[in-house]
Amino acid sequence: NTFCRELPKVELHAHLNGSLSHSTMLQLKRHFADTGKADSTNAFFDEFQIGAGDTRNLSDCFQVFSIAHSLTSTPETLAMATKLTLQEFQDDGCCYIELRSTPKDTPCMDKRQYIDTIVQAMQKSCVHLTILSRLIISINRGSPLKEAEEITDIAIEYKKKYPEVVVGMEISGNPMLGRFQDFIPLLAKARQAGLKITLHCGEVCNPQEVLEMLQYKPDRIGHAVCVNPKYGGTNETWRMLCETKLPVEVCLTSNVNTKSTPDYDSHHFKELYDADIPVIICTDDKGVFATSLSQEYRLCGETFNLSQSQLARIALNACQYVFAESARKTLNDKLLNFIEKYEL
Ligand code: 5GP
Repeated sequence: NTFCRELPKVELHAHLNGSLSHSTMLQLKRHFADTGKADSTNAFFDEFQIGAGDTRNLSDCFQVFSIAHSLTSTPETLAMATKLTLQEFQDDGCCYIELRSTPKDTPCMDKRQYIDTIVQAMQKSCVHLTILSRLIISINRGSPLKEAEEITDIAIEYKKKYPEVVVGMEISGNPMLGRFQDFIPLLAKARQAGLKITLHCGEVCNPQEVLEMLQYKPDRIGHAVCVNPKYGGTNETWRMLCETKLPVEVCLTSNVNTKSTPDYDSHHFKELYDADIPVIICTDDKGVFATSLSQEYRLCGETFNLSQSQLARIALNACQYVFAESARKTLNDKLLNFIEKYEL
């Protein structure tokens, strides 16, 4: 759909290693072959993608990331992955992206070098790309607290070093593992250093945790599937979201393909939209779920019968919630120009 591709969009929920396209993965694999290094990916690329009819559940889905992780284990391939992914988002009409990624120790780099590599790749991309890119540093809730502490310290260090690039910290990973409460002191520390916070919230039914997260008042939340009582939340969790009106990063295809949501028609987007809760259409893992940001806009429009004007207003509204406050006006103006030009 040309309209959804041409619409200037912001992407606020994209995991780097889940965003690698088939073509990017092939290029990374080729780089390993050309430089005489063996990558440890013996898995087939087909195993990386999770389609609607896939029998794997949300927990199984976390295993597919190890395929991407082995391809981004050197500074060279991680930089390539960042650059190629930014290029693909730009080609899809995305004008601003907050990529997120979990720092890892690999045989070729430590967590600091991991972050450094992505930051440098983002800075270099400014030369030949028009897309604005920022970084959100992820904590995997399934990893030991010691590691989360280490990552928080690195995030704060890089926020100081590159305030224009590093904008936030987030918690993701398997929602069946770890306790949100344990991370609160780390989030507080990060916030104090100027990092914005977003949380994967309500991917599985856990009303107690959803309440704790909403009470914490992060800057945004991701998914928010099990918040409305219709989808495994309680009256209390839903009332709290309606009161706080926290912006929700909505990932339709991801929720359908991981079976967090039975199908597009019954996706909770409708309840959020009708309740006037800010929604931001995002991809989550465009490589794993074989989607794109413009496709997510198209699917959302088709499923919920939204006009082009309504879709453009969703994109416009999203600009208010980007973590890089200095970019908000530019993005807002870009969307307003588009709306005026197409008389939406
Ligand atoms: P990376 O942080 O390695 O760049 O991206 C992949 C990681 O993002 C996964 O290992 C996982 O921790 C996190 N992730 C990707 N997609 C999802 C998702 O749909 N839900 C949650 N909770 N975490 C995710």
